Amino acid sequence: MESAVRIHPAVDDGLKPANPGFSGGTLVCACTDRPVKLRIEGQVAHNHVCGCTKCWKPRGSSFSIVAVVPHDKVTVLENGDKLQVVDPSALIQRHACRQCGVHMYGPVEREHAFQGLDFVHPERFQESGWAPPEFAAFVSSIIESGVDPGRMDDIRARLRELGLEPYDCLSPALMDYVATWVAKKSGAIAS
Ligand SMILES: [Zn+2]
Ligand SMILES: [Zn+2]
Repeated sequence: MESAVRIHPAVDDGLKPANPGFSGGTLVCACTDRPVKLRIEGQVAHNHVCGCTKCWKPRGSSFSIVAVVPHDKVTVLENGDKLQVVDPSALIQRHACRQCGVHMYGPVEREHAFQGLDFVHPERFQESGWAPPEFAAFVSSIIESGVDPGRMDDIRARLRELGLEPYDCLSPALMDYVATWVAKKSGAIAS
């Protein structure tokens, strides 16, 4: 698939299928000297491209690629001293490499539907075979990073062509998941 519209280097040539045998791997930051390395056990879940202004993106990309894994499946292997939390007040505690800026993992520790999950960027895996993105989240937010609003029709068309249905928040399945968690907590529906 050739297109003038760039989404992210890892999907611009089409999605690479997951390897059913993928059992995890090593996430590595962009440093050549003392790179931060993390071990992830098992496959990632809910992988998606994200247009929000908070996710880490490779240079020149309007979208990130971001997925979740259970917190207990994440282990810092090497050079964890280089990590620092980007915004301690944020729901997602994004741990970034101070030197290269790559976000390595972002745990949700607060009481929330996503508590216990860590957000990771699968493109940083040394290994291939991770589950490809399933949809596009926070698409309209790329305008906040400077994308010309007049390009949005072309960008949404390209996302659909790639099989990444564009949403301006999360996917309906994840929005329902979050709302169900809130409703059970408030007692609006039985838990
Ligand atoms: Zn780094
Ligand atoms: Zn995002």
